Amino acid sequence: MPGGVSSPVRAFKAVGRNPITVCSGQGPIVTDVDGNDYIDYVGSYGPLLLGHGAEIVASALADAVADGWTFGMPTERETTLARLVVEAIDGVELVRFVNSGTEAVMSAIRLARASTGKDKLIKCTGCYHGHADSLLVQAGSGATTFGTASSPGVPRPVTADTLLVPYNDLAQVRVVMEEHRGQVAAMVVEPIAGNMGCVPPHDGYLEGLRQLCDCHEVALIFDEVMTGFRIGYTGAQGRFMVTPDLTCFGKVLGGGLPCAAYGGGETLMRQVAPDGPVYQAGTLSGNPLAMAAGIAMLRTLRDTDAYERLECIGAALVSGLRKAAGPLAVQVQRVGSMLSVFFSDTPVTCYEQAIATQTNRFSVFFGQMLDAGVMIPPSPFECWFISTTHDSLCLERTINAAEHAFRAAGEVT
Ligand code: PMP
Repeated sequence: MPGGVSSPVRAFKAVGRNPITVCSGQGPIVTDVDGNDYIDYVGSYGPLLLGHGAEIVASALADAVADGWTFGMPTERETTLARLVVEAIDGVELVRFVNSGTEAVMSAIRLARASTGKDKLIKCTGCYHGHADSLLVQAGSGATTFGTASSPGVPRPVTADTLLVPYNDLAQVRVVMEEHRGQVAAMVVEPIAGNMGCVPPHDGYLEGLRQLCDCHEVALIFDEVMTGFRIGYTGAQGRFMVTPDLTCFGKVLGGGLPCAAYGGGETLMRQVAPDGPVYQAGTLSGNPLAMAAGIAMLRTLRDTDAYERLECIGAALVSGLRKAAGPLAVQVQRVGSMLSVFFSDTPVTCYEQAIATQTNRFSVFFGQMLDAGVMIPPSPFECWFISTTHDSLCLERTINAAEHAFRAAGEVT
């Protein structure tokens, strides 16, 4: 396997360490093949809101396995999960299940382009929407820069229609929409950015995007692959009360199994095949095991006080981390159960600021935390994910480890 991994960030290259190989996880703890335990804030990069091995998900999976695990025909579990999504999310009347966040966003963009009859796409630098060709663009600066692919192998014409703007900068979106009047199909955005560290939207940013999109007949796509069902049962759109035209889900939706979805209003979604001409398909889409895990996850989130608990755990962890950092220039940024630590004097509000933080200090911090038995994501640009199983003992151990780790990081110039 290239890098010894199935997805690049797992190789720990950004922090100069060797990846660990995990053999099991339970609650907030992962155990590696050498028998070491770690308090885990990677959380499989987002899906495990109830921690590892959650009994409610495990028993739903066992039931589903007994029924057979793939048919290529509709099952009731799909209808049940679709209904849960539609009931939870205001602007979603119809939903299509896919296997990954990448597929969800790629398909939503195809639908937006088809329905508007336009080609151009606006995305923010530093927002990640999966590895579809047209979205693999972050490089370049300035609002009117045409996209340059972040990877070789992406033909120039594919990214030529991707226009970049800085996150949290409405004025630049206005400029780009005016410059490309009548040509922009969609604006895709993470309503809370989670792939440049945790960067909340400025007050009025999402509302402003909604207005600009309405004014220019541009489809607004919220990529809630990370935030959907994590930031609350109604996602970031519920928290900020802004309804997009299309929403992408993943991660928590599938309870930790490969599952994602895109959805929106009925008129738009009826354009997807077979109701309409916009083609999109998948052999394993709506897989019964993924549906079963998703149903168990969403029902638990809907029917318990999980979000209140996550909020308390998140607040306690952040205040402990801030205290542990002492006078060091550190920003701990959090929304609900996602957070990140930047080595910076000032809060980070966009990608340009995120990459200007002291990443060399982060590498030392990461290594010290790992050696103390705390597994945080191996990059300052990945969020830490809290689960309902991170209890006060976990937090205490994490904060103690962080005190030493911050001290060591502070010695790096
Ligand atoms: N969108 C966002 C906001 C994400 O965070 C991710 C994955 N980190 C994706 C899309 C892509 O999802 P996947 O890895 O399931 O393809």
